[in-house]
This record gives sequence, C-alpha cells and structure tokens, in this order.
Amino acid sequence: MLNNLLFVKKELDMSITKKLRILNCVIIIFLGIVMISIQSCKKDDDAIIPVSEQNTDVDGGIVKKEEKFITLYKVDGDHIIKEKDFKVKGKFLEFQKDTKKHQQVWNLVKKIVPIEYRSKMSEFMIYFGNGDSAGYVVSNSNDLSKWQMGIAVDDAYYNGIFDSGGEITYTIIHELGHIITLEKAQVNSTISEDECTNFFTGEGCSRKKSNINILYQNHWADIWGEFKGSNSETAKMNFYNKYKERYVTPYASTNPGEDIAEVFTEFVIRSGGVKVNVNNRVEQKIKIMYDDKEMIKFRNHIRKNITKKSKRSLSVLGTLKNTHVFANRNKKSCLSHGD
Ligand SMILES: [Zn+2]
Repeated sequence: MLNNLLFVKKELDMSITKKLRILNCVIIIFLGIVMISIQSCKKDDDAIIPVSEQNTDVDGGIVKKEEKFITLYKVDGDHIIKEKDFKVKGKFLEFQKDTKKHQQVWNLVKKIVPIEYRSKMSEFMIYFGNGDSAGYVVSNSNDLSKWQMGIAVDDAYYNGIFDSGGEITYTIIHELGHIITLEKAQVNSTISEDECTNFFTGEGCSRKKSNINILYQNHWADIWGEFKGSNSETAKMNFYNKYKERYVTPYASTNPGEDIAEVFTEFVIRSGGVKVNVNNRVEQKIKIMYDDKEMIKFRNHIRKNITKKSKRSLSVLGTLKNTHVFANRNKKSCLSHGD
C-alpha cells in the first residue's frame, strides 16, 4: 500500500461584494491501485469528506457534499492526453463532456507551471469540488519526483465566469508551491519520521537546506509545542491570533506545508520585493524565497504569464477572511504537513 498525501486549498467568491474564502487541506490516500480517497480539512467545520469513485459520504455526519473525479489526463509537455473518464452522471457528466473547459483550465496551468517542470507534474485531474475544494496536489511516485495536480472545474467557473477574480490563478500558484517545496529535491522520502532530524513533512524528511526546513526551523520550531497542543477550534484561533504577525494569511498557520505554499503565492503575486522591516516574520519568510534563485525564476516566469488582477497581495485578500473559522489542523490529513 502506498500512502501519499494531498493538500487542497480552496478559494471561493461567494458574491461580488462579499467574498468568503474556505480553505481546505486535503489528503489523498492511495489504497492499492484502484481506490483513491480524499479527506478534506475544512475551515468551517470538522467534516471529513472522503472522495472516491464510489463517492463515499462524510465521516462524522456534519456535512454531506459530493466531490467527484471527472477526467484524468496525462501531461505531455504542452499537451494533456486523456487517460480516463470517471463514471459520472448528471451535472458531473456535463462537466465531463465540456472538454473545452478542461482545456481552458489546463491552458492556465500551462502558463503558470514552467515547461521544464511539467515532467514533475505528470498528471492533471479535472474534478468537481462542490464548494469544498478548489485544487490539490498529490505525489504519485514513491520518491516524490512525479505529482498529480487536480483543479476543481466548478470552482474554476464559479458563477459561470472563468477565473473569476483571479481565484483559480491563485489556487494553481498555491498548488505549484506545494509541489516545489515537497518534491524530491526538497524532501527525502526514504527517511522515516523517527530518523528525521529536520522537518518531517508527512511525505518524508525535508532536506537540511530545503526551504520548508528553513521555514520550520526559523519560524515554527519555537512554537511547535504550542501549535501541537492547540486542538480545539478556539485554541487554534487563539494560536493564530497570538502569532498572526508570523502568517501571511490565517490559513498559513494551519501547518508549515500550507504556510510555505501561502508564502510562495504571496512572493509571486505581490509586487515590490521584500519590505524593509526585517523584524517582520512574514517578510523574513518571503525573503527565504528571494534567497533562492530557483524561486526567483518561478516568480519571473509566473508574473509574465498572469493577469494584472492576479497580482494582488494575499494580506489584502486576507482581510476578507476575518469571518472565517479555522481550518482543522488536527485531522490526520492536515498534520501530514506538520507532524
Ligand atoms: Zn495547500
């Protein structure tokens, strides 16, 4: 059995004037070859939403929502080649038939993920997020050299408009942030948690000079015990409020994996480089990215290819998230980044 971990971040525009962001952390567990299940760590409740071809419902009985795999593609350079249409009906089938939408989403992924990186992103999944998730990544090789990215087609066309408010652009950048901070060059999957002296990501032991280990050692290690002890929703909220100056968004405080994906996203979309206040931990985290030539290459590439509306600061968007309750970091799935 191969266990792989998957993390999802969700962005939703609930209305033009009032944005509600629901961010998810998701795990995919590969059970043999056939069965795949996803658990979502929702920001607004404790529901776990397993997803499979059988469309299993909620464990815990709080929310029953359908998330469905629709079509799996193989990535071949600039192209995607259909590998599998999942058995779906009704509205899901409509999304499956509408391959123009799949292609439009892929065209955006293609702009954001550099060509030389596509060999690492070997599969592309179109799925239905049903308002619970907007995207995910999962490693589909033992050594973390190959990854699958999934994008929720319903979220990509929220309110019928593609990439409304640049939300899917933002999701794709965030998911790419996961791949580049968790892939083989950054994380050694052959070292177990017990043997790992650096940050253990869930997928493996982060390499000493990896960005996620640098982030963890400098900005998480000192509060790790407190973080791990913050179990209730209130405790998590209190943890965030106590340390909010460390985080680019509330979601970033979910675990180091989500933190670095959010930091990467902010680093890419925000103009103007690192702000001068070196005492600010968000700026220190963004500086980790500026200190890495590879990250700068990613940034330059992505900024050339995204629209102006997508180049906003997450901290500005973050003000819209104030009413959100907290992501549940204590789900196994969420802890996979940080445990
Ligand atoms: Zn994420």
